[in-house]
Amino acid sequence: MAAKMNGAAAAPRLEVRKIRKAFGQNVVLKGIDLSVKAGEVVALIGGNGAGKSTLMKIIMGIYSCDGGEILIDGAPAKLGKPAASLAAGIYLVPQEPLLFPNMTVLENILMGFRESESELKKRLAKHMEELGFNLNLQRKASTLSIAEQQLVELLRGLMRNARILILDEPTSALTFGEVQALFNVVRDLRRKGISMIYITHRLNEVFEIATDVAIMRDGLITLEGPVEHFTKDMLIQGLLPSDAQAQREGGKAYEPVRYSELKPVMQVRGLTGYGFSDVSFDLYPGEILGIAGVVGAGRTELISTIFGRDKTLGGTVTLDGKDITGLPTKRILQEGINFVPEDRHMHGLFKIRSISSNTTSALLDSAEIGRVSMNRRRQAQIAQKYVDDFRTKVVSLEDLIGSLSGGNQQKVVIARSLSTKPKVVILDEPTRGIDAAARSDVYGIIRQLKEAGVAVLMVSSDIEEVVELADRAITVFQGRINGEFSREEITQDTLTSASFGIEKERMV
Ligand code: ADP
Ligand code: MG
Repeated sequence: MAAKMNGAAAAPRLEVRKIRKAFGQNVVLKGIDLSVKAGEVVALIGGNGAGKSTLMKIIMGIYSCDGGEILIDGAPAKLGKPAASLAAGIYLVPQEPLLFPNMTVLENILMGFRESESELKKRLAKHMEELGFNLNLQRKASTLSIAEQQLVELLRGLMRNARILILDEPTSALTFGEVQALFNVVRDLRRKGISMIYITHRLNEVFEIATDVAIMRDGLITLEGPVEHFTKDMLIQGLLPSDAQAQREGGKAYEPVRYSELKPVMQVRGLTGYGFSDVSFDLYPGEILGIAGVVGAGRTELISTIFGRDKTLGGTVTLDGKDITGLPTKRILQEGINFVPEDRHMHGLFKIRSISSNTTSALLDSAEIGRVSMNRRRQAQIAQKYVDDFRTKVVSLEDLIGSLSGGNQQKVVIARSLSTKPKVVILDEPTRGIDAAARSDVYGIIRQLKEAGVAVLMVSSDIEEVVELADRAITVFQGRINGEFSREEITQDTLTSASFGIEKERMV
């Protein structure tokens, strides 16, 4: 590109060098180098948890970094506070928007400006017209959808005349029309010389609007360059973990599920809800069915609808032939489906209760015991059994659950779901944020569930985890099932391709 050749001598608008960042033991960024020139749109891709959002928050001054430097127009920048980044012309439209819920859209957008309100409103109206975006400015931010909140964040960035605009997965919550409108804005900004970093999970978008692409993996940028140097296939190969093939080969022998001898325990037919539609699959006793896909594909919505937490808009779920569609969560639990949510801090645990009462609390809701409370000795016996079985590291059963590490908390939660003798256990991201040692224990527990004849439905964005554990896998792409894979067909490659919406035929 001509712009690139002329710009060869000019310093990049934004350059990060050797950025490092750890959260506790978790080293997320191991020396990131990335640069963006005027008018470039750098698409940043990478698996969930690769550290993309963390890097952007460092650039925006929301997080500090442990090492490295940031240069703007070739000069070292003293960032580290959002105000400094804003002053340098950087604006981040975050993955999780940060609006003041009780303020109106207009108040949220105009906050912090000095100019007259009429001037500002004129500029805002112009940006909204360009965006093709109709929104009542008097609405309270708390009433907005995620997509609308992101668009408000984008408007804030445009109002600030950002020179470096960062969009963190802006399209995962947008409709097709909204995505097209956003792309027009991105192209327009590119022509105006604005630099952009565009984080996405959708590889098609990379080729549609980016000038350059960078892949983040294992805490480093492992591949980068102008988009015309790459094909979609090359990007997929670049996204795969380095040991992907080796791991598959080295996998241990696994007792295959004899599907022909089994009747499904759960049948889902044409299920539709918020974020997904027309989903059908069977789940068999003693199998682990993996649900792969990228964040925002609709998997969490699907399982929380099955579990009665979200509204069913169509279709049916039957358990052992009984229609359980749309029943409240409490009834679903009694019917024998258990759920271990992703965010165990929010939903899974009573942090201020003891390990032993947490382990048995699910029993109190289950059919077996009903509403009768349990005496402490019985409670302790049950809890001790599960702690022993799962090698949970605890000092005393009466310790508060909040005192355990994440991995051990997760073991308590899964143990708790087992204590009700469920037919089906649904796991959402069972090892996210858990260290390697605890992870292999959790895998052991999941295999025990399977061996006990429980049907396990496991949502995981960690494709290695699905490869390691699943007897069968389905992939969800943009709210629909787009692939089903037998144990033999499950590889990093097939699941990664399908998760990014790429047809399986390219494999043949
Ligand atoms: P991505 O955006 O690429 O999906 P993130 O930057 O959100 O990845 O996360 C990278 C890693 O950093 C993950 O392991 C995540 O758990 C961890 N992480 C992110 N933010 C925090 C935080 N505030 N505290 C602790 N760990 C965090
Ligand atoms: Mg992110």
